[in-house]
Amino acid sequence: MKPATVAVTAGRPPHEPDRPLSEPITMASTYVAGGDLEYGRYANPTWTAFEEALGALEGGRALAFSSGMAAVTTVLDLVGHDALVVAPAHSYTGTLLQLGDLESRGRIRTKLVDITDTDAVVAACEDAALVWFESPTNPALEVADIPRIADAAHDAGAYVVVDNTFATPLLQQPLSLGADIVVHSVTKFLAGHSDVLMGAVVTDDEQLHGVLKGRRDLLGATPGTLEAWLALRGLRTLHLRVERSQQNAQELVRRLADHPAIGEVRYPGFGGIVSVVLAQGAMAADLLVHKTSLWVHATSLGGVESTFERRRRWKAEPATIPEGLVRLSVGVEDVDDLWDDLRGALDDLT
Ligand SMILES: *Cc1c(COP(=O)(O)O)cnc(C)c1O
Repeated sequence: MKPATVAVTAGRPPHEPDRPLSEPITMASTYVAGGDLEYGRYANPTWTAFEEALGALEGGRALAFSSGMAAVTTVLDLVGHDALVVAPAHSYTGTLLQLGDLESRGRIRTKLVDITDTDAVVAACEDAALVWFESPTNPALEVADIPRIADAAHDAGAYVVVDNTFATPLLQQPLSLGADIVVHSVTKFLAGHSDVLMGAVVTDDEQLHGVLKGRRDLLGATPGTLEAWLALRGLRTLHLRVERSQQNAQELVRRLADHPAIGEVRYPGFGGIVSVVLAQGAMAADLLVHKTSLWVHATSLGGVESTFERRRRWKAEPATIPEGLVRLSVGVEDVDDLWDDLRGALDDLT
């Protein structure tokens, strides 16, 4: 079945008289002994419904986590002491902070690479234990050659992990490109309404699924039931939201390119995230985010509402990201309304 149908139908209770159509919220810390669930940190029917739906979309088995960073941290914990982790220099700041912290405590070694320089990344994979991808990267929007790098990583015996938060399984299915594990900040497009913090990992390797589930359950990095329910409700319209967000983004990219206040537009050609570099740098960017009424100045991304922010306002953002770069998370509003609001603010800058 096509992804739109999977998004709507996967993870539903069986079609039996008097069964609800949607999995309800199950509030339970423990279950009557003798079954498979046992205890609330190991299993919950509402998580399971979400996991079935996301797993079906990515082509593997999913595990729900309390946040994207809980998923990131659990996956990084797969490697042994002093092992080498290769990751994009322009990864999500939380991932970069976590890698830096693990390295500073002597837990792992890291090598940060330009993910667009395939030959250099392939060379860096040689003695890696884990190769981390973000593609497109946040917020530089660089795209990696996943199949080629995954081959090199596997030759070295490394795990291949793709943070698929930006693309979503509708635009990129990393397991089919050679990844062993997919990581999601469910907080973003998958839940999609700026009201849930949640994460997920997906793998098509049964043994790895067991290891990751064991780690999650012992770390206690499990989501609340309400969060899983909201995320599943969001997932039901993922295809509609991603399609509209992408359509709007593509149209805004065309219009932004001609505006004199814009120095550069970065867009990988797909998805709902666009980065622009203001011709007049950081000051212009800081002014812009306070001049709109529809666009909301806020971090995070992937919600139905359009948001934007200057990324370098965060100390952890790499210095190679331009000071005047504003990341736009394009929502599902009317594109002309979005453009009128943005153009008005940009006109004021020139
Ligand atoms: C937001 C984000 C994360 C972290 O997810 P949280 O749900 O905020 O913990 C990881 N990777 C990417 C690409 C993100 O955008």
